[in-house]
Amino acid sequence: MEKLGLNEIRQKFREFYVSKEHYPAKSASLIPQNDKSLLIINSGMAPLKPYFAGLETPPAKRMTTCQKCIRTGDIENVGITSRHGTFFEMLGSFSFGDYFKEQSLTWGWEFITKVLKLPEERVWTTVYEDDDEAVEIWKRIGMSEDRIVKLGKDDNFWEIGLGPCGPCSEIYFDRGPEYGCGDPDCKPGCECDRYIEFWNHVFTQFSKEEDGSYSNLEHPNIDTGMGLERLACIMQGVDSIFDIDTIRYILEGVVEKSGIKYQDGAVKTDISIRIITDHLRSMVFMIGDGILPSNEGRGYVLRRLIRRAARHGRTLGIKGKFLVELSERVIEVSGEAYPELVEKKDYIQKIISVEEEKFAATIDIGTSIINDYIRELKEEGKNVLDGEKAFKLYDTYGFPLELTEEILQEEGCSADVDGFNANMQKQKETARKGRKSADEEGWKEAVTAVDVPETEFTGYDELETETTILEIYVDGKAVESAEVGQNAVIYLDKTPFYAVSGGQVSDKGIMSTDDGKAEVIAVEKSHGVFTHKVQIEEGIIVKNAKVNCKVDCLKRNATSRNHTATHLLQQALREVVGSHVEQAGSSVNENMLRFDFTNFGPVTAEQLKETERIVNEKILEFLPVTTVETSMDEAVKMGAIALFGEKYGDRVRVVNSGNWSVELCGGTHVSNTGQIGVFKITGESGVASGVRRIEAVTGTGVLEKAISAEKLIAETAEVLKANTGAIAQKAVSVMDELKNAKKELDDFKKQAMSGELDEMIKDAKVIGDIKLITKEFTDYTIQDLRNLSDDIKSAEKGIVMVFATVNNDKVTFLVSITEDLLDKGLHAGKMIKQIAAAAGGGGGGKADMAQAGAKDPAKISDAFKVAEELLS
Ligand code: ATP
Ligand code: MG
Repeated sequence: MEKLGLNEIRQKFREFYVSKEHYPAKSASLIPQNDKSLLIINSGMAPLKPYFAGLETPPAKRMTTCQKCIRTGDIENVGITSRHGTFFEMLGSFSFGDYFKEQSLTWGWEFITKVLKLPEERVWTTVYEDDDEAVEIWKRIGMSEDRIVKLGKDDNFWEIGLGPCGPCSEIYFDRGPEYGCGDPDCKPGCECDRYIEFWNHVFTQFSKEEDGSYSNLEHPNIDTGMGLERLACIMQGVDSIFDIDTIRYILEGVVEKSGIKYQDGAVKTDISIRIITDHLRSMVFMIGDGILPSNEGRGYVLRRLIRRAARHGRTLGIKGKFLVELSERVIEVSGEAYPELVEKKDYIQKIISVEEEKFAATIDIGTSIINDYIRELKEEGKNVLDGEKAFKLYDTYGFPLELTEEILQEEGCSADVDGFNANMQKQKETARKGRKSADEEGWKEAVTAVDVPETEFTGYDELETETTILEIYVDGKAVESAEVGQNAVIYLDKTPFYAVSGGQVSDKGIMSTDDGKAEVIAVEKSHGVFTHKVQIEEGIIVKNAKVNCKVDCLKRNATSRNHTATHLLQQALREVVGSHVEQAGSSVNENMLRFDFTNFGPVTAEQLKETERIVNEKILEFLPVTTVETSMDEAVKMGAIALFGEKYGDRVRVVNSGNWSVELCGGTHVSNTGQIGVFKITGESGVASGVRRIEAVTGTGVLEKAISAEKLIAETAEVLKANTGAIAQKAVSVMDELKNAKKELDDFKKQAMSGELDEMIKDAKVIGDIKLITKEFTDYTIQDLRNLSDDIKSAEKGIVMVFATVNNDKVTFLVSITEDLLDKGLHAGKMIKQIAAAAGGGGGGKADMAQAGAKDPAKISDAFKVAEELLS
């Protein structure tokens, strides 16, 4: 058996299956594409589901991959078992209705025994108890019958809900009795470490029906998955995946950084070292695929992993940030197979650094608070931390609940998860109420459920529609009519009014009937029913009346302009800033557009300029903007950008601007980019970590900006008394004048002071052989006083100066003592304490010079008296 490095094994697997005519595909991103059922990719098969389900055509009927996987479900095992990581790579071979069971196992055996040259007698297999076919195949291949173990459905049958499913056969390696539990019956399936499972062949041959029965699939599939790290572990003859070449290198980094010996008898620190090692791998790969730390979904998983690793670092005694430095090693060992890590290295490290820093700011206080909580619990003889406290740790100190639970567990305690969730819910509600009351304007929602059919939206095609009033609500109650002066909520049969959604504001406009007229203020929709919030302007609006609905077309056009421009902006950003740019939010109205997107650090001025230039270029290319309704699959084929987390129905609307920007969107758009006119970015800022915001205007919005800029220039010119074209020069000369004036003033002050100098020395009080000068100034700075004292010091000896200056009712004292007096034990810092105290203040300093602030200018003379007493 040859000792192979992890990277070599990956290569050999790929070569082997390519030689068997498998199409070698790259690992898919850890972020599932168009699959809402899965948070993060967790197996080789996961990203290929559309091929197995027949929704998409695979590039070939046989495929092989090495897939990045994250399994958060295994987090409890990580560091404790020898075979689990939250991140690992899965080698896979797949057949989409091509070859089946016999071929899969035969090639599997060939790879194991011929390529890897594992000793046959140490390879075992498990099969599903009813799968006699698999047993026969194994025997034919050459597997001895006593190394074939039959297991039940829990272990060897793969199914999730309804649909394709089937038995599987798992392949194990016998590491030898020294790893075992000693039970003479010990064999695969036993929980001990002797037999390590490394390859699972899944035979998808059935379909589970509604009634619980299984029918045969016409084209059965093969899906195999082998843990690359586990295989490396076997090939390198080491005890744990943490001892294989690549991971061990990362682990050594952690060990070095902590200064603690690994495997030196301390089980707990060993576990922490392995946890950090594993989590480093996960965080690097997750960020590399565009996941950012956040409080939701995948982002939360990432945040948990980073914070958990940071905390284990603390328990190892590592001070300050350390993950960034160690992430380097992950990139080093995986960069060849995953060049994106090398490409995005700076970005990955930046994000780890920011997240680590954020947590570092609170981890120590948070930890000490948890420890206090635990002490209190123990004192009270309890062991469940209440939800409010767990929530406080989350909300104020950034401790993910799972981390709090883990720390509690170490001390035999737990957290009240329901209580935590209730607090979280409460906070969300408060936030929502805050938003709601801000935009409610006196229209009460219908109190009872409104029973009207879905409203037909005509507003993509026309801005004026004849329709019928179905229901009228005033103050939450259904009414027959509403009259002038009233606010009402109106439900229509059809409507041209766009309802607020997808970040776009609703339309405004007019509804008129034979009897009255209403102004449409806001439109919302829920489950396909549009609610129109209106003010009755004239006469009376009656239920069931025919009504003419007319959209305010200037507002609508301006909004559409901004919406299409937002699409162009997104595409331009992807080209200029990078393909990691993803929409995190957007808001479009008739005045401006706002686009939030993922990016670390500000977009540079040059990038903004380039983005703006590209958008304007696309506007001036007069690209046609078309929309089609189609299936999600078609849309994906067209390369449409979809929003992650957004629920799309079976039919989606694709907005296509000249095949340059293609997005799923339900908003309203111009029909040609030329209609946008011109585009100008007005601001770039950060809204959250990793999220930037660009604000911009288009069309007449740009004109308005120009007009107000012009006005500002005119006003400034008037104040500066200059021509508008010369304000910059004028401003420079005014600043110069100001500077000169200030300098003159300073010189003048200095002169005035030196005149006073002799006067002051002459007037000094003589106390024994010390001269005391006390003097109060107005509007002098502390620096002025220092200069003055320096001047006196260079002119005379044996002097103690106590100066006070009053600025805006605040007093600053300076005590300064010539050097010859210091031998006598005089100390300015000590003196000033008592002096300033007399005027309600305090301060300190060195023996020769000290300063202090005080509140009460009226008490300055008292303070001077104190100085006199001190010296007498
Ligand atoms: P186990 O019971 O050991 O957790 P599993 O049954 O969950 O394994 P599968 O879902 O069959 O594993 O995944 C296929 C292969 O992927 C496994 O045979 C193993 O080699 C590897 N694997 C699974 N989970 C992990 C993990 N957390 N870390 C490393 N490799 C893993
Ligand atoms: Mg598992």
